[in-house]
Amino acid sequence: MTDWKNCTEEQKERRRYMDKKYREEHPEWYKNRKKYNKSRYNRDAYRMKKRSLERYHRIKRMIIGYYSNDTFQCKCCGENEYVFLTIDHIKGGGNKHVRSFNSRAGYFQWFIKMNFPPGFQILCYNCNNAKGRYKQCPHEEMRMLNKDIKQELK
Ligand SMILES: [Zn+2]
Ligand SMILES: [Zn+2]
Repeated sequence: MTDWKNCTEEQKERRRYMDKKYREEHPEWYKNRKKYNKSRYNRDAYRMKKRSLERYHRIKRMIIGYYSNDTFQCKCCGENEYVFLTIDHIKGGGNKHVRSFNSRAGYFQWFIKMNFPPGFQILCYNCNNAKGRYKQCPHEEMRMLNKDIKQELK
């Protein structure tokens, strides 16, 4: 960029002339210059956001793949809708652990940094929630019940 303080009058004059000429040749641009700048800003922000989201999902996919043995399914009910899948702390304490990070991305990064430590499994949102609330997912209860009934009928 031109440093105005060190410019000669002649350079300044020339600069002013060029600006004026540009304005005259591009009246639409001049009228909408704020909008143009803004849209450009938005585009850059959008690109940056997109890139960081891509990175976020790449890491998330890697973690979910690892802890589900590449099945990308809930260990409890078999739900395979990717967006419903969550990382479950098998022994609990998940909320506290997640909250110790500033962001989801930071939390996911932790798995990479720690080289995928043991103690995690993939559950869908429902099963994870139920497990957190009732210690055991109702699916698990139903399975036990079914097993008991089958055994009794033998
Ligand atoms: Zn599930
Ligand atoms: Zn379940």
